[in-house]
Amino acid sequence: MAKKDYYEILGVDKDADKDTIKKAYKKLALKYHPDRVSDDKKEKYEEKFKEISEAYTILSDDKKRKQYDSFGHDAPNQGFGNSGFGGFSGDNLSDIFKDLFESQFGGGSFRDRHRTRVGDDLQYGLTIDFEEAAFGCEKEIEIRKNVSCEFCGGTGAKDKKLERCDKCHGEGRIEINQRTPFGIFRQVVVCDKCGGEGKIPKHRCGHCNGNGIVHNKIKIKIKIPQGIDNNQVVRVEGKGDSIKNGKNGNLFLIINIKPHKIFKRDGDDIYMDFSINFSQAALGCKISVPTLTGTKKIRIASGTESGTIVRLKEEGVENVNGYRIGDQFINLKIKTPKRLDRKQKKLFEELAKLEK
Ligand SMILES: [Zn+2]
Ligand SMILES: [Zn+2]
Repeated sequence: MAKKDYYEILGVDKDADKDTIKKAYKKLALKYHPDRVSDDKKEKYEEKFKEISEAYTILSDDKKRKQYDSFGHDAPNQGFGNSGFGGFSGDNLSDIFKDLFESQFGGGSFRDRHRTRVGDDLQYGLTIDFEEAAFGCEKEIEIRKNVSCEFCGGTGAKDKKLERCDKCHGEGRIEINQRTPFGIFRQVVVCDKCGGEGKIPKHRCGHCNGNGIVHNKIKIKIKIPQGIDNNQVVRVEGKGDSIKNGKNGNLFLIINIKPHKIFKRDGDDIYMDFSINFSQAALGCKISVPTLTGTKKIRIASGTESGTIVRLKEEGVENVNGYRIGDQFINLKIKTPKRLDRKQKKLFEELAKLEK
């Protein structure tokens, strides 16, 4: 049976860089790890796992990869082939296994214990008015999220008293043996009983059940910058989920702007229609048009046609990054009178005569 192409096995391009290859391998290795399936599928997974590990062993090694690129699988005399793999215990693999198991168990090694844990980021859709988006605003929203328990100060302990964890003897880490198709890997992982803290509550806090974290509805005040546009995202630092003994995640607000009665927005520019009547268009006139900040008087030249666009410079929205102010565009529409009184009718008839 022909052997499958290593690149194909990992699902990467022939010119993929090392990082891409590593990522692809990690993803597949997690998926096909034999310890992750029921017994009936184990054999199949083990087979697949070996296949991807073999592909990774070759492609992650510059020399072996070059040989493979030149000669493919059929290179028995190139110091390659099955014996050339040198087994699967290469540095690359053991490194990646370490990575793999650390991420898989959400734990990490003793070193990682000092890495700050961060709560989840949260997303929230926020609908605001047209003007609020144009000028910026302050909003108060109410969301449900994980927050530090106020009764125990986030310690999880009634009276905030903690004692040494008996599972890890205060070390915060324990050793486990991880069985893989290539042997047993000894791993040091974070103690699951104390979450790596080495300490556990003497008496659990009844409000958070010892978690130090509760899921509550809370109010958050938010500043929305001027010029924000539809579907833009406002990042609110530290207002995501809280996590015990860690940093809060962030909150991301996805902005939705309500339509305006008069204006339409396109980027920083705003658009509107404005109706004038026949005689105004013919004779020229002064009109007062609404702007974002009030009204503005503009001159309409005599003989203006329907569909003429008037531009008001910098009457639009100030860009969210502040580098420009948009313009306002007014699309002039000429109203044709629908119902004429007797006098109007007479005047139009006079006009018609003249136009002949
Ligand atoms: Zn412990
Ligand atoms: Zn509590």
